[in-house]
Amino acid sequence: MATIYINKSNLFSNLSKISSINPNILAVIKDNAYGHGIVTISKLLKEYGIKKVCVRNNNEAEIIKGFFEEILVFNPQTNRNALNISYAINSLSQLKKNRHPYIHLKINTGMNRNGIEIDEVDEALEIILKKGFELRGVFSHFCCSEEENCDTFIQYQKFKQVKEKIEHFCKINTLKRPYFHIANSTALTKLPDTFDYVRPGIAIYGGIEGYEPVMSLVANVVSSREIENDGVGYNKKFFSKEKVKITTIDVGYADGIPYFKNGCKLKDTEAIGKISMDYMSVLGEFKKEVIVFDDVKEFVKNFDTITYDILVKISPRIKRIVTK
Ligand SMILES: *Cc1c(COP(=O)(O)O)cnc(C)c1O
Repeated sequence: MATIYINKSNLFSNLSKISSINPNILAVIKDNAYGHGIVTISKLLKEYGIKKVCVRNNNEAEIIKGFFEEILVFNPQTNRNALNISYAINSLSQLKKNRHPYIHLKINTGMNRNGIEIDEVDEALEIILKKGFELRGVFSHFCCSEEENCDTFIQYQKFKQVKEKIEHFCKINTLKRPYFHIANSTALTKLPDTFDYVRPGIAIYGGIEGYEPVMSLVANVVSSREIENDGVGYNKKFFSKEKVKITTIDVGYADGIPYFKNGCKLKDTEAIGKISMDYMSVLGEFKKEVIVFDDVKEFVKNFDTITYDILVKISPRIKRIVTK
């Protein structure tokens, strides 16, 4: 099977770039750490000094709860859990049913996906006070921070106002001040103030410009041959009149590579014809290995999608090896 190499120095360089903006990083490692491997990445983040992370659900939190001081679960199930696990509150009705004592209140400032409305904040605070929940954090999410002229600043302003209201409430009720966080990767450099913590995902993995790629996917050679005036693979979609050497490697769409019908550019060569479930064929003769990609920002150009989508779907079955 193929191998995924996790480049530790690139990961650390991304983290230090983020730290220079705000050293308090709530690292997003949801969905198997954007496909990189949640345990592999957790070990490295801990080594770097990351203390807080965000995951998708309780299952992911269970897997890595030994590594961090706090784990924020974005979409929790309502049950009780460990001291270092915090639940995101995505609606007022969830807050009313919730029994887990450690929470982060999510505020809808304009994405209109999850979170309580701004005019529900007073009611939410009363419930938190009455039920004795520990409000550890308050957060919101940008809907279009990668765009130049969108609602980012409006959302920022709304969040700032909510922050002042909540700080005031905590002060008069002698509650501990929660920490505030809103900055995802593309918002890191766009805000007048990044608040207490930043909450990046894709930047950590180098899936956007300005950050170093962390994942490389390297496949093994299965066989090679020479063809002339003949086609390759299903439906012979690739056809060569001239004599060409071709090599078959051991990754396919079952490993999470997006399906392609007529070739795809790889690092040092190109895949030809249709991708198979467990294989693809490439131009040229290779003896041992073929690098499928070592920078997802380049590889994504083959497809009508985003780097996140490629990374998260890379099969968890592929072995991960950390390199310096
Ligand atoms: C996924 C996610 C993030 C991270 O977003 P990036 O664009 O990867 O930086 C931050 N906050 C929430 C709520 C998310 O769901």
